[in-house]
Amino acid sequence: MISPSNVGVDIGRTLKPHEYIGMVRRDEVLDAYLRERAAEAGATVINGLFLKMDKPEARSGGRYKIYYNHYEKGSVNGEKREMEVDAVIGADGANSRVAKSIGAGDYDYAIAFQERVKIPDSKMEYYKDLAEMYVGDDVSPDFYGWVFPKCDHVAVGTGTVTHKSEIKQFQAATRLRARDKIEGGKIIRVEAHPIPEHPRPRRVLDRVALVGDAAGYVTKCSGEGIYFAAKSGRMCAEAIVEGSENGTRMINEADLRTYLKKFDQTYWPTYKVLDILQKVFYRSNPAREAFVQMCADEYVQKMTFDSYLYKRVVPGNPLDDLKLAVNTIGSLVRANALKNEMSKVAL
Ligand SMILES: Cc1cc2nc3c(=O)[nH]c(=O)nc-3n(C[C@H](O)[C@H](O)[C@H](O)COP(=O)(O)OP(=O)(O)OC[C@H]3O[C@@H](n4cnc5c(N)ncnc54)[C@H](O)[C@@H]3O)c2cc1C
Repeated sequence: MISPSNVGVDIGRTLKPHEYIGMVRRDEVLDAYLRERAAEAGATVINGLFLKMDKPEARSGGRYKIYYNHYEKGSVNGEKREMEVDAVIGADGANSRVAKSIGAGDYDYAIAFQERVKIPDSKMEYYKDLAEMYVGDDVSPDFYGWVFPKCDHVAVGTGTVTHKSEIKQFQAATRLRARDKIEGGKIIRVEAHPIPEHPRPRRVLDRVALVGDAAGYVTKCSGEGIYFAAKSGRMCAEAIVEGSENGTRMINEADLRTYLKKFDQTYWPTYKVLDILQKVFYRSNPAREAFVQMCADEYVQKMTFDSYLYKRVVPGNPLDDLKLAVNTIGSLVRANALKNEMSKVAL
């Protein structure tokens, strides 16, 4: 974790030998692995672009009619096809057409920008077991910039909700902060995509449910969405299997709502805590300095990683919690004093 004044704190010191934060290459590796595993488990995988669907009331038989473009392997020309299904899980990302087709409503979103950079092997060695998060007004007014290892190259990126039109300027600043470590690198791919800021107003309607980014499950502060996409997909599928009594009964909206209830009950505290952390610590450079300073504390690291790895807001030790509260307030008071001093200097 690297502060606005480039003070770096190693925040992985309390991790046990079997604990780690995984880095994945979704498009190149992870998604294909998941698709193949689903096929091995009996799913029929169709390479298709969902276009629209007809609801059951408008048709006989009580099934949804899906319209999609079918693509043969390697072909760019889609063939229009239709299919009838009992239930629909929309896992089609931030621009979800399934969400539109049930009038799920919109969410605020951040824009995330990322460059995949092939750096010399000698420099890659540095990032072998390490990811970097940069905070500061220069890299993002409300989020962080990052350098994440992607096996044989790194991803350098940043995000913002409040200043979307300036994203390229923040990206340049992130590159600048990491310049010594990525020098000589070649950009091999550029990615820009919306990231949801909160769940959509509607996530279930009749026998249609949304999961992952389509539903709006990315945490504030850390910007984590892959885990919650996978987890919500699993919970939703389990609700269908259970509600349909292993395929012997037609499910209804109430069955899908059990997935929403379980997901919200399990993860609401995590979303709330990260939302508060972002509001408190990402609002000014002095607050970010205080944040990084706090991250040096072993107790903070343990609490953070326990929450991150096990996705629960873990109750801590009351005495350590009290010390943490005192330290946090102290850091924030210092941050505010520093901010006031800086505005006097600016005047
Ligand atoms: C630059 C960037 C960096 C990020 N970094 C991290 C990170 O470090 N850690 C983390 O946890 N999260 C990160 N996120 C967020 C994370 O990528 C998302 O939360 C996650 O990918 C959501 O998964 P998903 O499957 O719901 O949606 P997506 O990953 O968007 O997948 C949706 C899928 O649906 C397909 N699709 C779309 N429309 C249709 C259609 N009409 N018919 C058929 N298929 C369709 C798409 O092709 C895609 O395969 C990052 C996001 C961005 C943009």
